[in-house]
Parts: sequence; structure tokens; C-alpha cells
Amino acid sequence: MSHPVTLIAGDGIGPEISDAAVRVLEATGVGFEWDRQVAGMAAVERSGDPLPEEALASIRQRRVALKGPLTTPVGTGFRSVNVALRKEFKLFANVRPSRTMVPGGRFENVNLVLVRENLEGLYVGVEHFVGVGDDPRAVAESLAIVTRPGCDRIIRYAFEYAVTQGRKKVTIVHKANILKMVSGLFLEVGREVAKAYAGRIECNDLIIDNTAMQLVLRPEQFEVLVTTNMFGDILSDLSSGLVGGLGLAPGANIGEDAAIFEAVHGSAPDIAGKGVANPAALILAGAMMLDHLGERAVGDRVRAAVRTTIVEDGVRTRDLGGSAGTKEFGDAVIRRLS
Ligand code: NAD
Repeated sequence: MSHPVTLIAGDGIGPEISDAAVRVLEATGVGFEWDRQVAGMAAVERSGDPLPEEALASIRQRRVALKGPLTTPVGTGFRSVNVALRKEFKLFANVRPSRTMVPGGRFENVNLVLVRENLEGLYVGVEHFVGVGDDPRAVAESLAIVTRPGCDRIIRYAFEYAVTQGRKKVTIVHKANILKMVSGLFLEVGREVAKAYAGRIECNDLIIDNTAMQLVLRPEQFEVLVTTNMFGDILSDLSSGLVGGLGLAPGANIGEDAAIFEAVHGSAPDIAGKGVANPAALILAGAMMLDHLGERAVGDRVRAAVRTTIVEDGVRTRDLGGSAGTKEFGDAVIRRLS
């Protein structure tokens, strides 16, 4: 059986790293039917629209996409493609695993997953200025909106993720001591959902500021963290930093209508076209896609092959202190898969 997947190669280093990721995924023996679409600057040049309807229709139909990084045109009035995709497919969960891969870094045993709510909270965009006297922008007001169904959906997703990934613990991150309603509701729903998993998944809760400190002191204590939009935005970059940054950080955006897998990094225009970009993050995003498609064992094989290539074979791209090119790294991972 072949899995139908929309493939958006992306801008900048996107085509180079997508090529390596596709070759690695195909080398697993799993069948894919790639529907190649363009978005971002590549689409602007072709049709004037950074997110053409054909690309949306392809994702709508296949419900799974692998996406390279997209350059957001600055100051041109184009909508952000990532925000548009998030809204279009109700991508409510942003999932970011952070795992120590290269030994000798700051922490040896980090293996955590951050599940961030992606649609609610302070990011709903309900804000305005209030004028006082002759200053029209004397006061700024911004509303954080969370809903019980929105909290339930993301927290349940985190627990289900823990179950399917063989994790033992979920940590609910909040600020309910101060934000008694907007964060209090999240915690209340979290404790309720946790009861349904009692005996299978351990649950604790932590205040956001303490979580930030614990993450940089003892990140090994965490398995799955679930939190609201802005706390998640900040903690997810913090977590990537614990394991050496962007070159190894994959991400998934999971929605009711589709799931989109991508690297956390951007289109890296400074090294585009040179064949030196690290394709590992997109390959690891491909492994998350395999998990999502029910091919968990194959996803594990891909993760193991990337790790062995970097750690045992010492094949590393420049960002990890090596000299391998994008294609060379992809070939080395493929050798480890066979
Ligand atoms: P960036 O992640 O593209 O680059 C930051 C630095 O990291 C650069 O020095 C770059 O060379 C390096 N880098 C990034 N990925 C690398 C890789 N795979 N291998 C080796 N080095 C790598 O961030 P930026 O420069 O702020 O953004 C560039 C463009 O990407 C912008 O237009 C931005 O909007 C876009 N962007 C897109 C996404 C996305 O599509 N999800 C995410 C972030 C940024």
C-alpha cells in the first residue's frame, strides 16, 4: 500500500533537504505517492500567490503533507503561509520532540516532547488600543481566549500521544496561580482528562516559570509536556536549544482535517543552493510522519539511522562541526537503513 502525501519542497535550502528526505523515506521500503505542490516564494514567482488553491486542495484530499521551509515575503502584504495553513486545517497541536543526539553537548539524556496548543490563547488576535487624551495608543488590550473543548482536545491529544509513543508521564504546564481563569480552565480540564488515563500515564502539573527553570536544570525529568499557545511557543524553542539547536529539530502540526510535518528551521537563504544544509531535521519530521501513518517501527528505524550516521559514523554537516554535504549525509543515512 502506498501513502498519498502532499510534498512541498519549500524555498531556499528546501529543495535540497526535501530531496534528501524523500530519498531516505523511499529507502525504507514504505510506499509513497508524492503529490508535488509549490508554496511560498516559489509559488509567488509562479502564480503571484504564496499559497495556491491547488496546494490547499492537495492537502485537503491527502490529509498529510511533508513541507520544506517557506520564505515569508517581508513587507509585501502577503499573508503568512504557516498561519494560513494553521487556520485552514485547524492545526491545533504543534508537536516538537527534543532528544539528545550528539554526545558531548550540554545534556546527555534529554528525550522530551512538547505539545503546544496552536489555535487559542493570546494568539486569537483579539486586541486593540484605547485612546486617552490626545494619545490614541495610550493603552493596549489583548484578550487570551481558551475554550473547554480546545483545552480538552489538546490535552487528550498529549495523553494519546504518550500512550501510542510508549511514554509514561504527561506534565501540564500552566500559570493558574495568577491567571485563574484563562490558565485555571486549562489546568481544570487537564486534571479531568488525566483521570481517564490513571494507572496508565502518570500526570503532574507545573507552573510555567518553574518549568522553564526545571528544563534548564534537569530536562531528563520530562517526557511529554502540554501547554497553551504562548507558553508553548517559548518553551518549544527553549527545548530545541537544550539539544543543540535547529539542525536536528523536527515538528508536526496536527489538525482535525490534516497533519503537516516540517523542520523547525527556516529556508536558510545564506546557505541555499550550496549543497551544505543539514537535512536531518526534515528527515526526522519524515519519521514523525511515518508514526502518524501507522508506520511506527519504520519511523524508529529512520531515527536510529540518523543517530548512527551522526554519532557512530561521524558523518556530520557543517552546522554539527563536520564537512558532509546534504546529499552525502542523505546517502549515509540510506546506507544505515539497508
Ligand atoms: P533560518 O532557520 O532559515 O536560519 C537561521 C540560521 O540557521 C542560518 O544561519 C541558517 O544558515 C542556519 N540553518 C537553518 N537551517 C539549517 C540547516 N538545515 N542546516 C544548516 N544550517 C541551517 O531562520 P531565518 O534566517 O530567520 O529565516 C529565513 C526564512 O525562513 C524567513 O523568510 C523565515 O520567515 C522563514 N522561516 C520559515 C519557517 C517555516 O517554513 N516553518 C520557519 C522559520 C523561518
